[in-house]
Amino acid sequence: MVKAGDTFNIGEICPESGVYRIKTASCKANAGCTISKEQLTIPLVKGKTFPPCKNCHGVIVWEFVKKA
Ligand SMILES: [Zn+2]
Repeated sequence: MVKAGDTFNIGEICPESGVYRIKTASCKANAGCTISKEQLTIPLVKGKTFPPCKNCHGVIVWEFVKKA
């Protein structure tokens, strides 16, 4: 059972369809990468893998927010 605040690394399998938020991103320090507000949360379907940063493929730690 996934609960709010649980974190996942990129490449891990999504255990629960829902909304996930960027907790930490390695690319935040990268001047060439700006994560837009729209990119801070994503909907992700159970069984998909957690993605890296869309802009720079940087490492992201995703945090579960709520079920879909
Ligand atoms: Zn990035």
